[in-house]
Order: sequence, then structure tokens, then C-alpha cells
Amino acid sequence: MPEQPQPDRVLMLADACVQCGLCLPHCPTYALTGDESESPRGRIAIARALADGRLAAEPSADAALDHCLGCRRCEVVCPAHVAFAPLLLETRSRQRRRRGASLRQHALEWLTAHPALLARLLRLARWLAPVLPTALRRELPPRVVQHPSPATASTGAEPIAIFSGCIARAYDAELSSALDQLLIATGFAPQRPTQQTCCGTLHLHAGNVAQAAALAKTNAHAFAGYSTVVCTASGCHAALADALTPAQRLRDALDVLAERADRLHFRAASGPVALHLPCSQQTVVGSEAALRQLFARIPGIHLIELRGMGCCGAAGTHMLDQPARAAALRAPLLQAASAGGAGIMVTANIGCRLHLAAGSDIEVVHPIVFLARHLS
Ligand code: SF4
Ligand code: SF4
Repeated sequence: MPEQPQPDRVLMLADACVQCGLCLPHCPTYALTGDESESPRGRIAIARALADGRLAAEPSADAALDHCLGCRRCEVVCPAHVAFAPLLLETRSRQRRRRGASLRQHALEWLTAHPALLARLLRLARWLAPVLPTALRRELPPRVVQHPSPATASTGAEPIAIFSGCIARAYDAELSSALDQLLIATGFAPQRPTQQTCCGTLHLHAGNVAQAAALAKTNAHAFAGYSTVVCTASGCHAALADALTPAQRLRDALDVLAERADRLHFRAASGPVALHLPCSQQTVVGSEAALRQLFARIPGIHLIELRGMGCCGAAGTHMLDQPARAAALRAPLLQAASAGGAGIMVTANIGCRLHLAAGSDIEVVHPIVFLARHLS
């Protein structure tokens, strides 16, 4: 019997779309442009036409796909359950094979795959900051003040593995320290397997499936033997979950802490706090309720809600590749935070944090850092 040809994956996924348009009002890029090709339905049609050869690869089709934020807001509202994320990933993987990637993208992918080296380079860049041009200096992540080392975990504390991330490891030393403080206070013994690496999300965003798979393999090996792995960056969650076995549990740090919230006591907060909920936290991780449960324990907390204002525009390397569009998507969030008099903003994803901080003088921290700063 001759072998049956395999159906094209993009066509199969795209065929599920009934073109109802219910996703359109939820798409940040459609809201920005009002252009059908910048909507989920438009992108599905483009991906489909590229896959079946009705549309030749051309710059306008590539641009419409490049502009997608991968936020998955369309996926969660789709009544036909179109699997938009795998469709986008497969389409971008084909684009990557066809047109390659920029030198900067290659450099970013290589650096994030070598987090220890990235941390050293970042330290060097900070050291050189005084002699760098102002424009470059502004792009540097701010120097973080590290908390004093938290007390070590008590005997009998439950071991729990921590995913450190690539950029977060270098950029956000305070987050590691804050997470340790809170986990130890709730009876855990945090451990960071040394062989772990980047989750590969940045690589997947750019269609580099092969390198993302290699990183997943490294992480699978690093976390073997741990039944629970804790992640603080909502944007890393989906890729990291794919690296683990079905028997392992990947958990958001906020969910883990909320389960033992009665062991945490906080002192009062002063001044309004802008609350940003990353797309990945809303559409993938679902830790908003845990965050609210923990923040409700801080006396006097006054949250300025940035909900319903769309994506901030960070979206992997979108903030670097499309700076004007990324800034336009970010602007309403920063305006609302500023109008509410926020002195600080919290957001649970490293990419959003970098992007929001780069556009404002308001300090932007992970919610866990905010919680640890208010521990009594
Ligand atoms: S992706 Fe889903 S919601 Fe959007 S047009 Fe297609 S079927 Fe409708
Ligand atoms: S993933 Fe986000 S930006 Fe991309 S089409 Fe869906 S809603 Fe629009």
C-alpha cells in the first residue's frame, strides 16, 4: 500500500476557524490598526494561504505575521477552539527556514541560551554605564539592590525546585532573594538546579523550534528528580511546562505561596500600586486569583488596575523588532499608572517588566518582590 501523504499541519489547524470574528475585539494589534490582516482571523487566512501556496511569501504577509504578539488572547475567546499558538508557531518556523533571522536575533538567542555568560556581560555593561551614550544607558536594566540573604530553610522544610530564567537571573537578583524569603517563610526549602537554562520562549517566538527543543532537553535533565518546579515568569511557563514530564508539576510561584498565605504577614503599603497582568499570566498561567489573594493581605493596599488595556507590546523580541508599535501598545498602560499616581508597578513577567520600565520613571517590580518588601 502506498503511504498516505500527511495532511499539512497549518491547513489542519486553520481549517478549524469558522471566521466568525469574535476574536477581533480581543486582539491588541487589531485594536491598534483596525486592519483585518492584523487580526487573528486575518493571520489565520494568511497562514493558510501561504501553506497551500495560494499566496506567495511577500513582505506584507510576513509583516502581518511578525506583528502578532503571541498573546493568545484570541485563543481563549475562540468558540471554535482554534489552536492559534501551535498554528503561529508552525507558520513562524516555516518563515524562519525560508528567510533566516537577523544577526541581532541570532545573538539574543545565543546569549539567552548561555545565561551565566549573559549575567557576566550584563554586569560588565553596568560597570561601563558611566561612559556609555545616554541612549544606550537608558536601555540597560537598572542595577538592583539585593536583599540581605534570607534565613536558611528550617530542617524538615519541603524541597522545591526553582526555575531561574535567563535574563531574570541577571536582571532581577532581588526577585530570587524575595522568592527565597517567601518560600522559606511558608515552609519550603528552595533549590536551584545548576544545569538549568533558558526556557526557549524567545526562540519559539522567532520560529527557532530546534534550539527551543535543545533548551527543553537541558531543562528536562536539570529538573529530573523534582516533582514540583516553581516559575516566577509567566512568559516562560508554557515552554517550560513542555520540557517537564507529565508526572512533574510546573507551578507559578504566586499559586504556591497563596496556598500557604496564612503563614505570611505583611506591613502596610503606602501609595497607589499599578497592577499589570501580563497576557501570559491571563491566558496561560492563570495565577491572577493567587496574586489578588496575597495582595489582599497587605494592609492599606491601593491597586490601580491596568486590566482591559491590552498587551504591553513586549512579546518576546517584538519590543526590539517593532519599537514604535511596542511603545504605542505600552502607552495607555503607562498613562493610566501615571494618572493614578502610582509610585510603583507590579507585573509577573520579565519581558513586560523590562519593556514597561524602559518607558517610564515608575519602578517596575515582580509582585513577589513587592510582597517580600512588605513582609513583617
Ligand atoms: S479564530 Fe476563532 S474566534 Fe477568531 S474568527 Fe476564527 S473561529 Fe472565530
Ligand atoms: S496572539 Fe494576540 S496579537 Fe496575535 S492574533 Fe491573537 S490576539 Fe492578536
